Amino acid sequence: MTLVGIGYDSHRLAEGRRLVIGGVEIPHERGLDGHSDSDVLVHAIIDALLGAAGLDDIGTHFPDTDERWRDADSIVLLEAVVGMVRAEGLEIVNVDCTVIMEAPKLAPHRQRIRERLAGVLALEIKRVNVKASTGERMGFVGRGEGVAALATASLDG
Ligand code: MG
Repeated sequence: MTLVGIGYDSHRLAEGRRLVIGGVEIPHERGLDGHSDSDVLVHAIIDALLGAAGLDDIGTHFPDTDERWRDADSIVLLEAVVGMVRAEGLEIVNVDCTVIMEAPKLAPHRQRIRERLAGVLALEIKRVNVKASTGERMGFVGRGEGVAALATASLDG
């Protein structure tokens, strides 16, 4: 049986924050604001995995009212979700995602992001695809106010 899930997330860009995308810190004058490290891509992937497994969503498992997750490394949350998926007797087949961001360019960091995520998901790099898009200067992404990410995950079990 193949199961498919989708995930979406967005975070505001703010001064004095780190820009962490897919577990990789990207040098930039602004970073993503939020309760955890606000890794928008990892959050979208977590929701895709939880969705495919029928296990609710990121806010249910890691509420932003919980001090445990303040400035949390989202990769640690992803590791926990990979464990939840496996506990259901499910195997991750692939993850595909798109980061929608006006600046900086994601391309120079894409390979490192894929490697980092593939390591956590225990997948070949080819099974973890990361695409980049922009807002074409439209909307909150296009104005540089924030970053959005979409992900799909498929599971076998
Ligand atoms: Mg988030």
